[in-house]
Amino acid sequence: MTQPACAANPDLWFATLPHLMHEAARICQTCPLLDACAAYIAEHPTPHGVWAGKLPSQRPTPDHIREPAPCGTTSGYARHRRDGEGPCQACRAAHSAYHRRYDRQHPDRRKA
Ligand code: SF4
Ligand SMILES: [Zn+2]
Repeated sequence: MTQPACAANPDLWFATLPHLMHEAARICQTCPLLDACAAYIAEHPTPHGVWAGKLPSQRPTPDHIREPAPCGTTSGYARHRRDGEGPCQACRAAHSAYHRRYDRQHPDRRKA
């Protein structure tokens, strides 16, 4: 069966840091399911994640699905930051867990 390129590391496609989102979008260009994925996301718009090589900011997002990202997720963390407030405990935990996981999987990209 054809595997989507995002299957090996789905978290990267829901990253909130811009350079990680752009990396996911770049890998999408090599995905065998790119066309099917683009058709799917056009039918099922969501404000979360990179889909078919497009960041959320590069996709049309109908107002009715613009629900706030839940707390305890990296998207929730990003929402707090966007709203100019300190992330809550649950969102901070989700954010650092995400980074620990990413650093483990990409020891070569560890930042100073
Ligand atoms: S094109 Fe779609 S299925 Fe393929 S890697 Fe990107 S998000 Fe995943
Ligand atoms: Zn929160």
